[in-house]
Amino acid sequence: MPAQITAAQVLIVEDDPEASRVMGEVVRASGLTARVCGSAEAGWDAFAADLPYLVVVEWHLPEAGCLALCRRIKASPDGPYRTILVVANHDPQHIRPEEALKAGASFCMNQTVSHPTFGGWLEIARRGMDGLIAGESAVAKLEQYRREMEDVNAQLEESIERANQMAMEAERAYIEINQIFKTVAGGIALINNDCEVLRHNETFRLMAGVSASEAKSRKCHQVFHSSLCDTPDCPLTKIKNGAKRVESQIEKSGPGGETIYYHIVSTPFRGLAGELLGMVEHISDITTRVLVENALKESEARYKELSIVDELTGLFNKRHFNEILRYESDRTRRYKHPPLSLVIMDIDNFKHYNDTYGHAEGDKVLAAIGQIITQSIRNVDSGNRYGGEEFTVILPATPGRDATVVAERIRTNFEAYDFYPRPGEKVNKTISLGVTEFRPDDTLESLIKRADANLYRAKSSGKNCYFLD
Ligand code: GH3
Ligand code: MG
Ligand code: MG
Repeated sequence: MPAQITAAQVLIVEDDPEASRVMGEVVRASGLTARVCGSAEAGWDAFAADLPYLVVVEWHLPEAGCLALCRRIKASPDGPYRTILVVANHDPQHIRPEEALKAGASFCMNQTVSHPTFGGWLEIARRGMDGLIAGESAVAKLEQYRREMEDVNAQLEESIERANQMAMEAERAYIEINQIFKTVAGGIALINNDCEVLRHNETFRLMAGVSASEAKSRKCHQVFHSSLCDTPDCPLTKIKNGAKRVESQIEKSGPGGETIYYHIVSTPFRGLAGELLGMVEHISDITTRVLVENALKESEARYKELSIVDELTGLFNKRHFNEILRYESDRTRRYKHPPLSLVIMDIDNFKHYNDTYGHAEGDKVLAAIGQIITQSIRNVDSGNRYGGEEFTVILPATPGRDATVVAERIRTNFEAYDFYPRPGEKVNKTISLGVTEFRPDDTLESLIKRADANLYRAKSSGKNCYFLD
């Protein structure tokens, strides 16, 4: 049923202007809106447009317009729910109520239209109208409930659909996670914020040395205890403090007492809203790798120990220098001949060079002096790196005086060497040298000490020179 609230609630169809004015006033005074039409034809159009609750029709409209209008209204879809009041402004005694009621009128006013009488009839007509309004609002409410129900139903259906979809996705995720846990290389364990092992794979159990039931619902530090447990380095503690990825390396004893090395990557395990639920630990056995690395480190250390050459300068190192000097001095002491000389040298103002141009540039100077020493001595002589920027040359079968020739050669070659620690900046470095010849009562210490004292003298006499004694 159409239930439309119209602009005009009362339609007055009256061809007498005075009567329609009076009725219009009464209607408006009762708080209703009114529209007035002067003919049955115009009345019908107004009815069709406004669908008013109450139609007041003049009995004496020309050409029995009143009856025709009543019939037409009642035959329309909204007609049965509308109240029609037939009035007669003049000669009300001529109204034929049976005909009017038959044509669809609800009431007939058998008195001349005046304030009180029309008001009374209007009141009577209004009761029917109120019923209609109440009915309409009830229907409107029902319609609203129906729509709300439909809405709720639609939402319910949507939720069920979504729930079904989520259940399917959860099922799929479950299968995928199971697959990952089974196929991933290494051990994997899902640990909640209370350190409980929620899920784990078989490799994890093997690494931990526990059965499936032992691993279930126990704390991770009971199942897979390590040196990180109960320390600030515990991965879960770090993740709770905001770490996004924690990598750790631990050692554990294997069943036969052997050491097993594990590499553990721990990452946060989060819920849908991003809240931290715990962590995922991925554990790899890296024992083979660690053993190989350790063996490599050991052999490197051993190689260094065995090595006699200083890498930077290509000269012999201090350990080898000591050996040669002992050998040569023993020989000279035993046979009182041939003579043996020692040169000790130290780069001048080298600290300043390092501080100005950097350690890497300093190293280039060391490499250069290494080359210069090698090129300035004979095959039987040995050039050595004695300390950081201190060098020695052992000259067998060479008296001190001849050794100064070598010392001077090294000094001048080095002085002539151009360094470019910065583009376009040429720098020349110098070196001071102490020269001495082995004496029969010398020990290794006294020989080195004297050469060193001579170097000191060269430094004190202005550097870039040698001193022989
Ligand atoms: P002096 O003329 O009195 O010898 O002055 P100096 O600045 O050379 O003083 P000293 O001999 O005490 O300086 C030693 C400096 O040598 C300290 C350090 O900066 C540098 N040095 C030592 N070993 C190395 C090394 O292996 N590489 C480099 N780049 N510098 C080294
Ligand atoms: Mg020095
Ligand atoms: Mg120096």
